[in-house]
Amino acid sequence: MSNTKDLDKKYVLPTYARADVEFVSGDNAKLYDANGKRYIDFASGIAVCSVGHANKRVNDAICNQLSKLTHTSNLYYIAPQAKAAQKIVEASGYDMKCFFGNSGAEANEGAIKIARKFGEKEGELKRYKVITLQHSFHGRTITTVKATGQSYMHNYFGPYPDGFVYADDINHVESLVDDHTCAVMIELVQGEGGVQPLDREAVQKLAKFLKSKNVLLIIDEVQTGVYRTGKFLASNYYDIEPDIVTLAKGLGGGVPIGVVMTTHKDVFSAGDHGSTFGGNFLSATAACEVMDILDEMYDEGTLQKSIDYFDDSLEKFYSAHRDIFTSKVGIGMMCGLRVKDGDTLAKIILNAREEGVIVLRAGRDTLRLLPALTITKEEIDEGFEALNRVLSSL
Ligand SMILES: *Cc1c(COP(=O)(O)O)cnc(C)c1O
Repeated sequence: MSNTKDLDKKYVLPTYARADVEFVSGDNAKLYDANGKRYIDFASGIAVCSVGHANKRVNDAICNQLSKLTHTSNLYYIAPQAKAAQKIVEASGYDMKCFFGNSGAEANEGAIKIARKFGEKEGELKRYKVITLQHSFHGRTITTVKATGQSYMHNYFGPYPDGFVYADDINHVESLVDDHTCAVMIELVQGEGGVQPLDREAVQKLAKFLKSKNVLLIIDEVQTGVYRTGKFLASNYYDIEPDIVTLAKGLGGGVPIGVVMTTHKDVFSAGDHGSTFGGNFLSATAACEVMDILDEMYDEGTLQKSIDYFDDSLEKFYSAHRDIFTSKVGIGMMCGLRVKDGDTLAKIILNAREEGVIVLRAGRDTLRLLPALTITKEEIDEGFEALNRVLSSL
């Protein structure tokens, strides 16, 4: 560890406040550090390792593909990319086409480009404004950081692209739409913002209003997508028809990949957008296998069973510690407990690691849990036993 830590301090830019631990191996929802200590992972690399660590099916699929080809560029047809697109579109239930990039921010950049080109062509005025929500999180590039409705993130890096407008909440979006608005971009459950699902009726009402104004609805499903909430997309729960959906985190099972998909299949033409690495043989093969595993779990009902077991365990934990937690939030395997104050939350996260369970923070006061969708009952039990020890020793 000290060697890794020394190298990191010396050669890696200090953009992350790293926890003092180095994991060296994993197995489904278990992680092992350099000292051989075992942890239950309730974070799954921030919702990325959707099918667990060291998943054999994903690893075999990747190794098999890499023995043939890793990358050829998007100048040529790529079989696993085309197959991944089919699987994603079919699972979504929407009549869409996909573009592949490498991250959530890149997917959202693509979404904004589609919306802006749509806004350039449709209507008499040039339409370019994108409305997003307070406390949202859409990425770290210059454009997506500006799309993110958290003003503390808008320091230092300006001037930013024009045309981003922030609504205090979902009910205030409508009043901000004007003749220059091309799109509204929202997360249905804000991941970084506190794991609070948006009100279903408010979202449906907004979706209907936007359709009537020919303003695009972009749903950022970078965190909520790929079965995180129990359905393939959180949009499926809300029973809405978005114009654009973005995916990334859970799709590659740990291999970097991002997708923007849209019903507006003809907005982009050749040359409008691109990505060197996007959807190459490596990432697209990983995505295909992750999709197969999760589609099967969904169809067999095992995904819902895991979600129910996790939720019951969380409910018991929450009920036992109502002196510390003020509410329980989230959908599916995207859950949170509001903690009475930020200091207590910081202590819980630190002590949890000591007790052998990895948890996350969201916003100022939310303990966030994003386990692998393949987590077993035994792993869930062991994780909550550790969390109970943390709470009783506070
Ligand atoms: C993580 C996240 C992003 C950014 O994804 P990167 O891969 O880090 O660029 C964007 N939107 C949401 C909702 C996210 O959770």
